[in-house]
Amino acid sequence: METVIDAHELFKNKQQQLFPSCTQVTLTHGHCDSQCSACPIGQTNYGDASAEVLALFHKSKRLFMDINIFKRVADEVAQYPHAWLRLHGRGEPLMHPKIVDMVAYAKNAGVNTVQCFTDGISLTEKKARRLLEAGLDVLECSIHGHTHTYEKLMRNGKYEKVKKNVIYYSQLKNILGVNAKLVVSAVDQPDFQAEKSAHKMFWSQYADEVIYRPYHSWGNRIDMGCASLPQKRHACTQLWTRLTIGPTGKILACFNSWDEDPDEVLGDLIQDPTLTLAQVWQDHRYHTIRQDHANSQYSLKCCVNCKDWAGSSWGNNSYESLLRHKLKLSDDSHHG
Ligand code: SF4
Ligand code: SF4
Repeated sequence: METVIDAHELFKNKQQQLFPSCTQVTLTHGHCDSQCSACPIGQTNYGDASAEVLALFHKSKRLFMDINIFKRVADEVAQYPHAWLRLHGRGEPLMHPKIVDMVAYAKNAGVNTVQCFTDGISLTEKKARRLLEAGLDVLECSIHGHTHTYEKLMRNGKYEKVKKNVIYYSQLKNILGVNAKLVVSAVDQPDFQAEKSAHKMFWSQYADEVIYRPYHSWGNRIDMGCASLPQKRHACTQLWTRLTIGPTGKILACFNSWDEDPDEVLGDLIQDPTLTLAQVWQDHRYHTIRQDHANSQYSLKCCVNCKDWAGSSWGNNSYESLLRHKLKLSDDSHHG
């Protein structure tokens, strides 16, 4: 097929061509204490996931990332001032037994911005203090719903506990006087609409930002029902901005590469002790995947039926833009 756009031209700048702005670290495969209706892991916990997803997250397959893999990733991310670490993946990051040590390690190594997700259930007073003292830059609390919509969508029976924990975190960071940011987010799904404005009004009192994430399919693992898509598919920004490290050290084409299909595994930190993330990011295999997207060819298994490209924003709507410009978390002078 004739090349219309050179994939290299879609990088925002030279720095992002050399190294991703976002390195996502999958701290767990399958451990989560919520049962969200719009998430394959939540559906697994609740029991209404597809057979394929139930098999993927069967109890016997759940695991946590080894801290030595994490350290190797953090050491490399620390070499790039434009890069941030995103602690997320297939489950609840705060359930990782070494989460505080990981945040402290990454900050001591020199990672510019460490961002972590949580559903807030295990954000105890003690853990809140330890995370803030470890230097966590951004905590994003996923609070999908408000009062009755919360229980309908997250199905964990912990709304009051989460509310108390997140408010405490917000107050503690002010008491400690640290430059940590709190983001409260929700997936912008149909059953949330009745309470969306009440959610915004309430959490704006405590959070530095309240954001609504596009309703997404997790690589077509969730039936989004009537959610509308743009008529014309476009290249997915994830391939130009985010590199994902799986829980056993595999370097993956996308955060949706949960099956770790051989075509979507672009490197293995355990198998190759000298491999760097930068090598994989700049490698011809990754370039070919990007070029296919630029040519409107979505051949990678995870991409074929995925709908999440629609919510992957380029430019000023990106998460990077939120971190840099709204939360003012980095010196923008690094960016070309
Ligand atoms: S809290 Fe996050 S990982 Fe857990 S079930 Fe909900 S959306 Fe999924
Ligand atoms: S289209 Fe989906 S699977 Fe493919 S890179 Fe984008 S988010 Fe990942």
